[in-house]
Amino acid sequence: MKKTPIQKLYEKIPSFSCKEGCTRCCDNWVQCAPEEEARCGKFEFTDRLCPKLKGDEGCSVYEDRPFICRLFGSAENLPCPYGYGPEKPLTKEEASALLREYLKQKRKQEEALHGKNDG
Ligand code: SF4
Ligand code: SF4
Repeated sequence: MKKTPIQKLYEKIPSFSCKEGCTRCCDNWVQCAPEEEARCGKFEFTDRLCPKLKGDEGCSVYEDRPFICRLFGSAENLPCPYGYGPEKPLTKEEASALLREYLKQKRKQEEALHGKNDG
């Protein structure tokens, strides 16, 4: 299937393996774009813990996890508190450019949805 602009942004984020069993980054509100919610299902928070986290099994939507989950730990300005990360993290400037593009795409999708809801 053809990749969306947001999925193409995912490919620009260097990946790495987290500390085994660590879910510290999942103890936070996750912002996501409409297309990410369409892939992952709604994020219905009842507390700070991400609803996609399934105990010892970890993230239940790992392959489709949102942009922000991918960025954390992969950029020099968003470091993992345990020192895990890719060999070559994104610079602050690279991370900011990706985030700006992501937010632009997210806004575009939200506006398209909003327009639909209004009409
Ligand atoms: S980036 Fe670090 S703190 Fe976050 S889940 Fe991975 S190992 Fe844990
Ligand atoms: S979507 Fe997955 S990786 Fe992202 S915060 Fe939730 S459980 Fe963690």
